[in-house]
Formats: sequence, C-alpha cells, structure tokens
Amino acid sequence: MEFLRRWVSLQVDLGNFHGREAIYGFAVKMTFRAVLLAFVLSIAALPICYEIGIMPLSLPEAIKLSVAFSWLFGGAVSGALAIVTGHVIHDLTVSRTEFERLSRTDMLSGLLNRRAFNEALAQTSDQASLAILDLDRFKSINDRYGHCAGDAVIKAVGDVLREVFCEPHLPARLGGEEFGVIVRGGGIAQRIALVERARNLIAARTVVCDDQVISTTVSAGIAEFTPDLRSEAVYSAADRALYLAKANGRNRVLHDEGVEASAARQTNDNGASLTLELDGGLPAPG
Ligand code: GH3
Ligand code: MG
Ligand code: MG
Repeated sequence: MEFLRRWVSLQVDLGNFHGREAIYGFAVKMTFRAVLLAFVLSIAALPICYEIGIMPLSLPEAIKLSVAFSWLFGGAVSGALAIVTGHVIHDLTVSRTEFERLSRTDMLSGLLNRRAFNEALAQTSDQASLAILDLDRFKSINDRYGHCAGDAVIKAVGDVLREVFCEPHLPARLGGEEFGVIVRGGGIAQRIALVERARNLIAARTVVCDDQVISTTVSAGIAEFTPDLRSEAVYSAADRALYLAKANGRNRVLHDEGVEASAARQTNDNGASLTLELDGGLPAPG
C-alpha cells in the first residue's frame, strides 16, 4: 500500500497528467505492460506444470489459452484499473497545481504574493530593476471611507500594475498597501520611465465606492540588480529610495543611485538639500 501511495505521488510529481489524453495514454501503457507480464509468467509456468503432470491440456493448447486469457482477462482488468488510477492521478495533479497557484497568489489583487516574489527576486541577477511602491497616506483612506473602500483601492492599484507590467516584468503585492515589481529589460532610464508611468496612471485612476470617488497616489523606490549584489541588498536599496520618496513629498519615483548622489550632495550642503538626482534624468513627478 505504501509502495502504491509513493508511486501515485511520484506520478503527480512528474506532473504530466493534465489532459485526458495523458490518462488514456497511461492506461494503454499500463495495460500493455500487465498483459506482457501475465504472458511471460504463464509461458514460464506452463512447462513446469506440464512437467509435474498437472496440465489437463497439451502444451500448445495451454499456450494458446494462456495468450487469449492474458489479453482478454488480464487486459480488461488491468485496463479498467489503469483508467481508474489515471483519473485519480489526474485529479491529484489538477488540485496540486491549483493549490500551488493559490499559495503563490495574493487573493485581493490577484498579483503574485510576497512568497512567490521572493523566489523570483532570488533568481534575478542582472538587467533588471526592483521597484517597491507604497500607497501614500493609505491609512486615511481606510479611516475616511472604510476598510472595504481601502481594499477596492488596493485592487485598482493591482490592476494598474498588471496593465503596465506585463511579461517579462513581474508585479506582486508584498503585503498591506505595498507592492513590488521586478522590471526587466531595456535600460535603467526606460525601467524608471515604466515605474513613473504606473505612478501617473495610479494618480489618474479613481475608485467609486458607495458613491464616494476615491483617488490615491503612490511613492516608489527603485534599485538595480547586479550580479554581485544579493537580492536582500537590492531590496534594502529600493526601500531606502522609497523612504526618501516619502520624505521628499510622496507621489514620486526615486532611484537608489539618485539617493546616493543626494547623500553626497547632502554632506556637501550640510544636510540642507534633499533633492534627488539621477544621471540621465529622473522623470519629474506630474
Ligand atoms: P505612508 O504614506 O507613509 O505610506 O502612510 P500610510 O498611511 O500609507 O502608511 P501606514 O503604514 O501608516 O498605513 C498603512 C495602512 O494600510 C494601515 C493598515 O490598516 C492598512 N492596510 C494594510 N493592509 C490592508 C488591507 O489589506 N486592506 C486595507 N483596506 N487596508 C490595509
Ligand atoms: Mg503607505
Ligand atoms: Mg506601507
């Protein structure tokens, strides 16, 4: 029984049981193997039975009968069993795929969740930026319009991110009113422009809830992946840029390299300036 359980689990792991054709292909294969096994066993057993004199038929007749039986009886029984087993494996595969999808999805926004995002982060090393976006003064939306309205706003922001960051980019909801995006391809300026586009669209979008028209803005911090930088370090850099975007007035996108430039300038100016700059020009907030 334990062997059977492990075998079924292995078939589910192999994950090639998604279509009906896979079930019937499996049934045909298993039936053929069972018939072949029955045939080999009977061919091996028949001469022994004949030798010890318990065979009521001649050897050629017994062989003919055993071939017919292995195909008719063995084939029918093993075929039926293989179809039932195939359906069980198919159902398990489908529920497991669905379970895996749900365990990686944020239920409110429909985007990937933090767990799935962290996995993707760990696999990203180059030619990509990490953007962390946080809704501005979101608590006041909850306080003023209620938690349901807050949820509707989070959902609307998720929709915008899905629209702007389609493949190969990867948007996710990291929790609460915070989102992360791995922006892939192009140059740094293009990736920043894409985040800026999302910021503009979010600022322009309104959510109507109980006849109330709600709008929101978002602040974002961006950092670059490099092959020698761990994903935790990239995350901290983007988070630092986000912090400064908030401190600098919200509703803006800042790049970590701009943060460093500003830090240098701040030292020169004795901390008087918090203006952030990026080589090549950071798109100004609208
Ligand atoms: P800031 O501009 O500095 O980011 O201010 P904020 O108000 O957005 O930030 P703060 O961290 O003070 O508040 C975040 C709020 O988000 C608090 C919490 O109640 C709310 N929140 C977290 N998760 C959810 C959620 O799933 N649904 C709703 N409606 N609210 C949530
Ligand atoms: Mg916030
Ligand atoms: Mg937050």
